[in-house]
Amino acid sequence: MTNRIFKTLLCTLVIIAGVCCFAAEQVKPKYIFLFIGDGMSFPQRMAAAEYCKQAGLAPLAINAMKYHAVTTTNSANSFITDSAASGTAIACGTKTNNGMIGVDPQGKPLVSVAKAAKKAGRKVGIITSVTINHATPASFYANNISRGNYYQIALDMVNSGFDYFGGGGASKFDNKKDKKYCGNIYELAEKAGYFVSLEGKKFNEINPSMKRVMSFGAVGALPYAIDSKEGDLRLADFVRQAITQLDNPNGFFIMAEGGKIDWMCHSNDAGTTIKEIIDFDKAVSVALEFAKKHSSETLVVVTGDHETGGLTLGFAGTAYKSFIKRISLQRCSRDKFNHKLRELSQKNELTFEAAKKLAAENFGFEFVAGGKAKKLTMQLSAAEEKALKKAYNVQFPGNKNRKDARGVYDSTFVSAVIRLFNNKASLAWTSGAHTALPVNTTADGVGAENFTNMIDNTDISKKLKELL
Ligand SMILES: [Zn+2]
Repeated sequence: MTNRIFKTLLCTLVIIAGVCCFAAEQVKPKYIFLFIGDGMSFPQRMAAAEYCKQAGLAPLAINAMKYHAVTTTNSANSFITDSAASGTAIACGTKTNNGMIGVDPQGKPLVSVAKAAKKAGRKVGIITSVTINHATPASFYANNISRGNYYQIALDMVNSGFDYFGGGGASKFDNKKDKKYCGNIYELAEKAGYFVSLEGKKFNEINPSMKRVMSFGAVGALPYAIDSKEGDLRLADFVRQAITQLDNPNGFFIMAEGGKIDWMCHSNDAGTTIKEIIDFDKAVSVALEFAKKHSSETLVVVTGDHETGGLTLGFAGTAYKSFIKRISLQRCSRDKFNHKLRELSQKNELTFEAAKKLAAENFGFEFVAGGKAKKLTMQLSAAEEKALKKAYNVQFPGNKNRKDARGVYDSTFVSAVIRLFNNKASLAWTSGAHTALPVNTTADGVGAENFTNMIDNTDISKKLKELL
């Protein structure tokens, strides 16, 4: 090799190496969004997507994202995880036991991607539609051996130094019985420099001149999307506010959780779940809109922490036909329906006829006399009506309240109505708890190509930390 050829080769190698280094530098996004649909796996996403299609609504943004990864969710001590262990895995990249928050199975504190982002100079925001010290958001800022230590977890929130907390307020925020009690959480937060807005009262006062913000839209969890009123603050509002508060030259990390998807999957209420996912999708869309304007510097990742309820997209009674569009007949959540029944009961106005009327109004049932119901319609057969009557007698013997126990095998009237309605919409459930079904992780933007093939939930944290 002549000297000249050698020099040319060397120069080429240096240029290639330079380009490679430059390319490696480029994959670090300035803005990172991580969305978690609690209890949201493939069936939940597909049920919502198919409902949107059949009902003529816009397709889900989360399912149109470019990269998809099948994601396993087991915890350190169980094939079926809870939200504490899966939240810890997604946040910290380490498997732990069910019930534990931000610590390993031995109780050793772990470092979450949110804490790593803060340390790296980014601003950090944590948002949820349930209470802010619930397991999933807690995994990003707290370290505690038990998810049930709500007060202590809220103390970790105050001491986190994170820049923005939004969504549902803290539970047990003034729990004087906690052995670490040292004052009302919100008062402590103000002392620590947070501007605190409760029940959305000061939502519109919040502006970027405020360094630290707690912006809560309700005392506890936000209302279900299906039950929410005009003007209620939704997950999307908090994501929008967080972006305004946190945008800065060093970038940000925002985690936003759709927590009530899980709650209604526990209750086997498909209609409320689907509306909750559409609401969650709107929050993700806010981030995707932002990403469009900052396409060379934004990463959006959407995952679930586990499946809840064992939802299936088909039912024996409806065979190969799909009637998911019927979900639009549902007017309120299971909780609200139960509440309406209780109200009638308390006024001594509840009879089986009144309960039937309420079920017809809120779920589109048609009661026909003499068992002449047409198959595969919303008309109830004599057997279906008889089953409802039996369940009514279980829940309201002598018009006295019996607690709605929830879950797929529960025998109350509310459960029977929900089950029958879901089945008529060609949907069914196998559990009132979580299942081990993997979830779908989708991603768009800078570094999104890291989220493909089959990954574990711990990989999400590991990959995100590399991208900081
Ligand atoms: Zn759950």
